[in-house]
Amino acid sequence: MLTDTFGRMHTYLRISLTERCNLRCLYCMPEEGVDLTPNEDLMTTDEIMRLAELFAAAGVRKVRLTGGEPTLRRDLVELTAGIRALPGVQAVGLTTNGLTLSRKLAALHAAGLNLLNISVDTLRSDRFESMTRRRGHERVMGAIRHAVDLGYDPVKVNVVVMRGVNDDELCDFVELTRDAPLNVRFIEYMPFDGNVWSDSKMVPYAEMMAAVQQQYPQGLERCLDPRGEVAKNFRVPGFKGSVSFITSMTKAFCADCNRLRLMADGNLKVCLFGANEVSLRDAMREGASQDDLRAIISAAVDRKKAAHAGMFEIAKTRNRAMIKIGG
Ligand code: SAM
Ligand code: SF4
Repeated sequence: MLTDTFGRMHTYLRISLTERCNLRCLYCMPEEGVDLTPNEDLMTTDEIMRLAELFAAAGVRKVRLTGGEPTLRRDLVELTAGIRALPGVQAVGLTTNGLTLSRKLAALHAAGLNLLNISVDTLRSDRFESMTRRRGHERVMGAIRHAVDLGYDPVKVNVVVMRGVNDDELCDFVELTRDAPLNVRFIEYMPFDGNVWSDSKMVPYAEMMAAVQQQYPQGLERCLDPRGEVAKNFRVPGFKGSVSFITSMTKAFCADCNRLRLMADGNLKVCLFGANEVSLRDAMREGASQDDLRAIISAAVDRKKAAHAGMFEIAKTRNRAMIKIGG
């Protein structure tokens, strides 16, 4: 059911839990905001669990909870524990902006959350305010420290790099990996509806790499990339943490893609950059059996294309705003 016509097995499911967010990042949330799906049209806890169970039985081994901002969802701890306990699921991850994470982190840890990505694009609080249109930088940095103290190793730190905005901080982020078990992940800026992307604002992988290497003459050593890993992973020799690059724009990794995305409104998306979606929520609410759901999912996976159309085509194509997809 989860193997497509190109032989790609989909073992990784990302579930967006909400479209709401307590930040307004420039590259994610359109300036005018987004129309929120009414609450009754969002998936309930039971619906999410029903689908998670079905995907796990079909071969999903890793589930990541995202959003919008997933910590805004009241059932986050319950969902984490429920999904982690499903037979077959080996890892549950969370991608969060960290703003209110500290309040829930101990409970999430106890619930079995084993992978944690915290997004922060700058180490300067004034810049944080201009990039997110909100305050709270110190709280996010505190959440990273809290996660390290709880033993998350590594704590992944997601950094979307934008030219003229935060591209002068690459080496400051690399410095964070000197003594702490952090994996700093530099992400190429991607185009989505409403985020006023332009290729001139995107800093390509090769350029980021050159900037980092200039500062660290000892060079970066390549780390082994696990299967299905979208990041190119490196380490400054002698540093405790590591540095990665997510090169969705300049070096697409479609051939190894193992991801499916379930959105808060119950739509399944087989490609981050593809507009094709199918509503599993509607199917469930119309009384679909497990077999019916499997058939719908299987047909969607079969329609997955070999690769996305390239960055300039993506920029012209209608898609959801990122806040409604979840990364
Ligand atoms: N609110 C959570 C957060 O910020 O981590 C989870 C949702 S957010 C959409 C997931 C990830 O997507 C974040 O790391 C964010 O930085 C990244 N992201 C959002 N818009 C992006 C864009 N246009 N290009 C690249 N990454 C983006
Ligand atoms: Fe919110 Fe995350 Fe999007 Fe920023 S990147 S607006 S924190 S969903």
